[in-house]
Amino acid sequence: MFRTQKFYMCKDCGNIIGVINNTGIPMYCCRQEMEELTPQIINSKNSNQNEKSNSTHSLKNTHENNIFKVGKTIDGKSISVIVDKSYLTPNSICWAYINTKKGGQRKNILKNDSPVVNFKVVDDEIISAYLYCSEHGLFKWIF
Ligand SMILES: [Zn+2]
Repeated sequence: MFRTQKFYMCKDCGNIIGVINNTGIPMYCCRQEMEELTPQIINSKNSNQNEKSNSTHSLKNTHENNIFKVGKTIDGKSISVIVDKSYLTPNSICWAYINTKKGGQRKNILKNDSPVVNFKVVDDEIISAYLYCSEHGLFKWIF
């Protein structure tokens, strides 16, 4: 069963969690409720009214929508997430995530890594891709 992946962050210590099973009970860290990371939708033609960003660090200028690009192969079984690393500072925490019909996959992107992150799925279907950057927040690409 497909579930949209949810991520939460502690504003105090910076812990980030990805939810596997959501019972609806609020999650706490540092004695406060964790905040859901709301993604900015990158490919606006598919943008969803319910997922408008509340990020205070959103990209406002010409760089908008350029931080990452996503390409899915014609068979839909592999996907490349291409990160524009010029957005990242040496201390940026960055990872890419793909949400699939049956779950998801995540890969960290380190400073010296290739800007191209590849994922492959077997017996599954790619629904969306995310990029998180500690400088700019969470971005989402919907297929
Ligand atoms: Zn915390």
